[in-house]
Amino acid sequence: MPQRSDYDLVLIGGGIMSATLAVILKHLKPDLKLVVLERLPKIAEESSNAWNNAGTGHAALCELNYMPDSSDGSIPSATKAIAINQQFQESREFWANLVQSGVMKSPETFIHSIPHMTFVQGSKDVDYLKRRFEALKDQPLFAGMEFSDDPDQIAKWVPLMLESRSEQTIAATRIDQGTDVDYGAVTRQLFDWLVLSGVEVLSSHEVSKVRRSNNGWTISGKHGSEKFVISSPKVFVGAGGWALKLLQNSGIKEISGFGTFPVSGHFLKTENPELVAKHQAKVYSQAAVGAPPMSVPHLDTRIIEGKSSLLFGPFAGLNLKFLKHGSILDLPKSLRFANLLPYISVALTNFPLVVYLIKEIAKSPKQKIESLREFVPKANPEDWQLYEAGQRAQVIRPKGLSGSLQFGTEVISSADGSIAGLLGASPGASVAVRVMLDVISKIYPEQFHAWQQDIKKLVPSFGVDLNDDAKLASASLSRTAATLKLKA
Ligand SMILES: Cc1cc2nc3c(=O)[nH]c(=O)nc-3n(C[C@H](O)[C@H](O)[C@H](O)COP(=O)(O)OP(=O)(O)OC[C@H]3O[C@@H](n4cnc5c(N)ncnc54)[C@H](O)[C@@H]3O)c2cc1C
Repeated sequence: MPQRSDYDLVLIGGGIMSATLAVILKHLKPDLKLVVLERLPKIAEESSNAWNNAGTGHAALCELNYMPDSSDGSIPSATKAIAINQQFQESREFWANLVQSGVMKSPETFIHSIPHMTFVQGSKDVDYLKRRFEALKDQPLFAGMEFSDDPDQIAKWVPLMLESRSEQTIAATRIDQGTDVDYGAVTRQLFDWLVLSGVEVLSSHEVSKVRRSNNGWTISGKHGSEKFVISSPKVFVGAGGWALKLLQNSGIKEISGFGTFPVSGHFLKTENPELVAKHQAKVYSQAAVGAPPMSVPHLDTRIIEGKSSLLFGPFAGLNLKFLKHGSILDLPKSLRFANLLPYISVALTNFPLVVYLIKEIAKSPKQKIESLREFVPKANPEDWQLYEAGQRAQVIRPKGLSGSLQFGTEVISSADGSIAGLLGASPGASVAVRVMLDVISKIYPEQFHAWQQDIKKLVPSFGVDLNDDAKLASASLSRTAATLKLKA
């Protein structure tokens, strides 16, 4: 294949991050020439696929890990929870805008209102949840949150969870503005529009090399048995778990010392309509000792392609692949002199996590049903099937000579702004808009300032602390709820 060099930006990976970045850029500068390279035959088949993630619109409404308990029994800090909520609100604003302009289809094809709840048992956690509620109930972005420690009230909210429950020291919070999102549908709709807007989306194109050239970067790989070579002044590496190896391949010094810690996820699923009717919520609880924040157990209503189901999990597992369709050589091949100590130190300093993962891997199907029974005491194994979701690749960040395991996302970019990539997987798809705006600020630093007004047309609350202004927060919530047909 002859070398193509007529692009302004090459995006590697056909997931929600590349899709979001390309749509924002095409709105800011419609004449940009973009090409997306995806190794699989279809886009949105890795983490962004609806069945490979849990579809939670992470807004910190129910996830305790964004608001850990204080050490002295005081009201825990809401700072992180408010920040996550604002970032999800920016995604809502972006999608609402795209629905209005016809870029995205009717909202029922990708987002639904599902109450977000936190459920805890035992007096210690009931006390913590009460204090968490105290910290959040008057925050404008959390308006409408309710708390109850009355089993009868909780049974009205989530009947399936209260049937035959012996423990009565329980409590829950509930908030109606929670959502279930089909991130696969979001990704496909964004790509449909990109193709109509002249963006080339090349599937079955696997990038193997990203190398500096005179004018920027040379990106090469294989399309079936044929080789392809593309050159471009700028590159975005949105390759999910494989971003690490492509960034390492690029040779930029900013990736030195980074590693990735893969955790696989399995869920139990039921489509039994009787059970689905008795549970209309996403209910998150406390994590087991040593469990990473993304492995917090939850029982969720999912709505995918118009069909409702319940899922419970995740059950974490340890394998060496960085993508679901990756290779067991992913982790060994990512080892470099510079990240060896970070990898070793993470293994040594996260002993409870290692023990947790070993316990999870060793869980028999019967033990998985026992875990489910903490949520659904009467669960019948015949109703539930185990399935494999996506692979999470968590970031190992260099810290001096050692390393630390991060549970957020990390944008890595070269000093000259010609290449950027994304590591990490949480809060994930929910905050794609904010993370991609961050990428734009790195790869188009000068234009980013000039584009501020246009960015605010797409995401009106970008750069504004919504939670500091009750009127603005309420206006953004109700405006997006009206367009996306959600409960305000
Ligand atoms: C079990 C699980 C549960 C989750 N739950 C949630 C949730 O409830 N809410 C939430 O917001 N987020 C959740 N996430 C995180 C979320 O799914 C991810 O953050 C998000 O989908 C990542 O999007 P992406 O575009 O970066 O990656 P991906 O969707 O993984 O896309 C990367 C693409 O790059 C392609 N690619 C890779 N290497 C190459 C190459 N060399 N050449 C060409 N193409 C390549 C891949 O095939 C893939 O299509 C969850 C993730 C998992 C695994």
